[in-house]
Amino acid sequence: MQTNTKYDVVVIGGGLGGILTAVLLSKEGMNVCVVEQDKQIGGCLQTFSVQKKVFDSCVHYIGGLGDGHTLNRIFTYAGIMDKLELKAYDTNAFDKVAFGMGANEYPLAQGFGNFQEQLLEYFPHETMALREYINRIKTVGDHFPLYRLRMGDADEKAAVSNWGLTDTLNEITDNPLLQSVLTGNNLLYAGVKNKTPFYLHALVTESYIHSSHKVLPGSSQISKYLWQELQNSGGTVLRNTAVTKVVEADGNITHIETEHGEQITGTQFISNVHPQVLLGMLDSKIIRPAYRKRIDGLQQTTSTYMLNLVLTPGTVPMRHHNLYWNATTDVWAAAEYAPQQWPVNYALFFTEDKDNPGYAESLSILSYMHYSEVSKWDDSYNRTGHEAERGDAYETIKAQKAEQLLNKVYERVPELKGNITAQKAATPLTYRDYTGTPKGALYGILKDVNKPAETTIATRTKIPNLLQTGQNVNLHGVLGVSITALATTAELVGLQYLLDKVKP
Ligand SMILES: Cc1cc2nc3c(=O)[nH]c(=O)nc-3n(C[C@H](O)[C@H](O)[C@H](O)COP(=O)(O)OP(=O)(O)OC[C@H]3O[C@@H](n4cnc5c(N)ncnc54)[C@H](O)[C@@H]3O)c2cc1C
Repeated sequence: MQTNTKYDVVVIGGGLGGILTAVLLSKEGMNVCVVEQDKQIGGCLQTFSVQKKVFDSCVHYIGGLGDGHTLNRIFTYAGIMDKLELKAYDTNAFDKVAFGMGANEYPLAQGFGNFQEQLLEYFPHETMALREYINRIKTVGDHFPLYRLRMGDADEKAAVSNWGLTDTLNEITDNPLLQSVLTGNNLLYAGVKNKTPFYLHALVTESYIHSSHKVLPGSSQISKYLWQELQNSGGTVLRNTAVTKVVEADGNITHIETEHGEQITGTQFISNVHPQVLLGMLDSKIIRPAYRKRIDGLQQTTSTYMLNLVLTPGTVPMRHHNLYWNATTDVWAAAEYAPQQWPVNYALFFTEDKDNPGYAESLSILSYMHYSEVSKWDDSYNRTGHEAERGDAYETIKAQKAEQLLNKVYERVPELKGNITAQKAATPLTYRDYTGTPKGALYGILKDVNKPAETTIATRTKIPNLLQTGQNVNLHGVLGVSITALATTAELVGLQYLLDKVKP
């Protein structure tokens, strides 16, 4: 069945990348349709509730939303910035980093000067190293033109893209503890020793040093307001509608097909889904087998187990920072854990109880989890609208993991014990089914400094009217994906033109 409307732009997937690109294009007068498989739009920006407490499925805090910062400018232009209710993190520590049973919790602070000052309390002899570290972070940011919302060329990026994270830190300091502290929150970018590029660490870290915020009551506010903006400019969102086919004829995409048998036609198509998923739906000889093989063979970032807890009111003191814990100072070991060692890392995200200020109403705990631990349920599929049971054995694994993780967290947050009134867990399968990301990979394709060309996905494809957006192009995270939305939009309207509007 073919729908009557021929859209100017059809966007496949309504994650942040898809919906923000749709808003930017609809502001240009284009008739845009976003097709999303889930009941909720937003992809990783979804929320859910347990005992009426709101939980984020993924995004707990966002960098670069402070006045004048890059994401603030983009969201202002998109029309949502003044609608968001933000809670700033502690200026002296947006994150704290801890190791094993060590009592120290090392602060990562907002503001470059403050970042240095807070760490000097623990590393009094590292002034030069910390100065150099900040200098390198700023240098990298300056070499990524879109991060500064300016025009630039690929050579600028190329000049710093080949810096490895571990190598660069070795150049900056020979203090292994300081290196571990600076990368102790590498869950933020799923770092892998000798593979993760320094720029990935630098761009993410810089954004949180600029400003760190939580969106209240949850990150789905971002997608909700973007959706409203899209509607205001005449755009359409089709939810509960999985795209099953992307059809090419005579060199261009003509239409997409959905699980409901509809054909949606358009002039321009933009994919916000993982490149592997796109290629799986795209039947076209223009895409060479070698390219398909390359994309299929790429390593994905590791996946995760998330445990969300509702707490007894007034029992667990609120922390206005996140806590990243690693079993040892070898922060890279976590990605390679053996199942019997689990958990070897975790991050704690607290949400304050409005009725009991100073105490947390809920806590989310994130730890790495390999897809292989749940791959025997590979054939199962369970998300809202497509509910299915995975069976007792799966539930048992989830429950065992919860117990193991809690026992570890109790060592650092003993007040938690006996004060959990409800809990809900997510595994790599949950992430796979809710976002369509293969193997529930935290941030999609793993960036490898040794293979920059192979692990970099372009906005353009070989098919002239098919573009890509989202976390697999450039960088993940709310800031990274929003910047990519600019890059994708610019393919249709021109970059200088767009930047003049975003940064008048
Ligand atoms: C556990 C976790 C925690 C995170 N925490 C943070 C954080 O604290 N701060 C931060 O900045 N970033 C965080 N991130 C990263 C950030 O959430 C993502 O990088 C970003 O939201 C990805 O946006 P996207 O649009 O690229 O992809 P997605 O959000 O994955 O969107 C893709 C969309 O496509 C849809 N889709 C897939 N296949 C189809 C199909 N066939 N038909 C129709 N629709 C389809 C999906 O349902 C989804 O809505 C986190 C990510 C995870 C997984």
